[in-house]
Amino acid sequence: ARTQPFLAVEGLQGWYGESHVLHGVDLQVREGEIVTLLGRNGAGKTTTLKALMGVLERRSGSIRLRGTEVSNWPSNRIARAGMAWCPEERGIFAGLSVEENLMLPPVVAPGGLPVAELYTLFPNLEERRGSQGTRLSGGEQQMLAIARILRTGARLLLLDEVTEGLAPVIVEQIGVTVGKLREAGYTILLVEQNFRFAASLADRHYVMEHGRVVDEMAAHEVADRQASLNKYLGV
Ligand code: ATP
Repeated sequence: ARTQPFLAVEGLQGWYGESHVLHGVDLQVREGEIVTLLGRNGAGKTTTLKALMGVLERRSGSIRLRGTEVSNWPSNRIARAGMAWCPEERGIFAGLSVEENLMLPPVVAPGGLPVAELYTLFPNLEERRGSQGTRLSGGEQQMLAIARILRTGARLLLLDEVTEGLAPVIVEQIGVTVGKLREAGYTILLVEQNFRFAASLADRHYVMEHGRVVDEMAAHEVADRQASLNKYLGV
């Protein structure tokens, strides 16, 4: 029997104040999958992640985590159910060392990784354990941000633009890290502008336009559908 999806979203709507931004997002992510959310700036990708995580002031529609409806849960309860969000702004503490940053986040769900295990996954962070957040390169900051959310014990990771502003060689390292997370059994929903990066990792892609998912393709369909993808992404 096929397992139910880890995440199933139906008719998700979201607002900033009076501004209606999400108009019914439908998507699913199965356990162990890497799925991307693609689309132009302003399509509603980040807002979708915020709505899933319960940090958007107003949302409606259905969000199920392993079959349980969580759309009216507060974000702390959603976190305990195993979903974590790594925001584009990274959210690390600039004035604290790498190790202090790793010690700080609460372990909210069972399975939160101890710092020693994080250093196995992110050897660069161990080398930099005493360095302050402000002294880290962009790539190291991004690794630290991802490492921090693994502390929470989440198994479903919402990663927002993890390659933004990073040099190609660093993007490659982040790709290796995301691959390790897949091997470790994490499930990942990735918002990405860098399609080459997304394509190298993802099992499936969703395309968003104007607050809706308008298309979906499996990794093996990308080559045949490159023309429509280019149109969606405006390249
Ligand atoms: P980007 O890559 O630019 O972040 P995106 O697809 O993630 O694009 P969102 O950030 O989700 O897009 O934005 C969707 C829409 O919501 C846009 O029209 C944006 O202007 C609007 N928006 C985003 N944040 C806010 C906010 N805090 N208040 C009001 N409107 C917002």
